[in-house]
Amino acid sequence: MNYVLRNMRKKRILILTIFILIAFIPADNIQENEFPLFRVVLDPGHGGVYLEDRKKHGDKFDLVNSEYLNFFAPGAEYRGIYEHKIVYNIALKAMGILSYCSKDGDFDQFKKILKKYTDSTIKKIYIQTIISRKKSITQIEVKNSSDPNAEYRLYDFPGPDGDMQKGRISKMNEYKPHLIVSLHLAVSAPPDYLGMNGIIVPPYNVLKEGLLRLKNKDTDRPLDDNNRLRFWFKNSERITSKYAFYNDSAHYFTSYGITEDYKTDYNDYKGYKHNMVTWRYRDNFLWDLEAEKHRPDTEYSADYNSFIETGRFREREKSVYEEYRRGSSFQDFGGDNYHATYEIIKYILFSLNESGVSRKDKIPGKPFVSTWSIPLLVNAISAYIELGYLDRKWDRNVLLKRQDEIAEGVAVGVYSLLAGIDNVKGEFKSKPSGKSIDLSRYNITPEKSYFDIVTE
Ligand SMILES: [Zn+2]
Repeated sequence: MNYVLRNMRKKRILILTIFILIAFIPADNIQENEFPLFRVVLDPGHGGVYLEDRKKHGDKFDLVNSEYLNFFAPGAEYRGIYEHKIVYNIALKAMGILSYCSKDGDFDQFKKILKKYTDSTIKKIYIQTIISRKKSITQIEVKNSSDPNAEYRLYDFPGPDGDMQKGRISKMNEYKPHLIVSLHLAVSAPPDYLGMNGIIVPPYNVLKEGLLRLKNKDTDRPLDDNNRLRFWFKNSERITSKYAFYNDSAHYFTSYGITEDYKTDYNDYKGYKHNMVTWRYRDNFLWDLEAEKHRPDTEYSADYNSFIETGRFREREKSVYEEYRRGSSFQDFGGDNYHATYEIIKYILFSLNESGVSRKDKIPGKPFVSTWSIPLLVNAISAYIELGYLDRKWDRNVLLKRQDEIAEGVAVGVYSLLAGIDNVKGEFKSKPSGKSIDLSRYNITPEKSYFDIVTE
């Protein structure tokens, strides 16, 4: 272990102490207010810049090897149109609408908007909304900054003195949100990905099935619901969804991927993601000293055959709360994350429809399923949406010219998930159900919920 690294670890002890102190400041509790209060994060993707020097400017800092594993992802760009700008604008507009639901907001204004969606009684709740990043960085700011991506990284990272700084996922968790709405779009998608699509993390049991079948050399037998595999995200046309599923399962448990013949790929290391953010499910302090040995029959074994499941994160993964969030099997797939994601998509389509913007293939399309970082590394309900694809002319126009309508759909969707909207108007396919999420089942005690404890 070199000097810089050791010094960094000493500083981490200090950070840990400070962190424990901060964690005891109580968050605003639902019960303490006249109306229930819910915390929401609007999370527009990206915002920083791609810079060639990954060792300095990347993301996903790995303490085992003391380096960034990924280049910074700047987001989609198509003919001078930028994803990071569009999603930020939409998030800001949605936050403006949701501010009517804040404690000192003008709720009557919000009621007026809801008239379009229902004639039924509208329940009063408080929604306290934050946005997960500042405005996208400018060229000038990039030039004048030693670490332009500092504000935009998803994962924790070393600051100028080697102290670990919180990335966006840690900051979101610090806010203890009930709901996080991540907004993205892409340049293109496979032709069978119509409409707007959700980004979904699979249930724990599905990934576990993947690991067990790898261990038992039983990867050829069809899964109980092979249909679901069609949704599995593959990052290249050369691989199959089946391979992507087993590769994700191996990564999820061991941090190492698999080769084409389903053996451990020792060159494909993705890092221990649950230890790259600040929350209660990190492994014990100095875990990285153990991890770097990758000893067989431990949770840090690189080879899936000798991988053993232990630690706080695995316990969480097996918990009933994760079952509520993500579902529990191939048959019962998606949980509240899925419901939240697709309700918001339906409200966006409703809002667009109402202003005369509709198209037959603009529907709630099939989800991209993989072990995505944000929905995996938070306790909040995660709605994660691909709003459209820039190489499709219709999408492009809507994304550029109909941001107000999209933002309204997002805001109304958020409200509906928290308070419920009875008798949503209209007679069309893919109408939102108006069903709220049953947040009470996330209560651990009458005072504390699964959302509250994420950083305690
Ligand atoms: Zn994106």
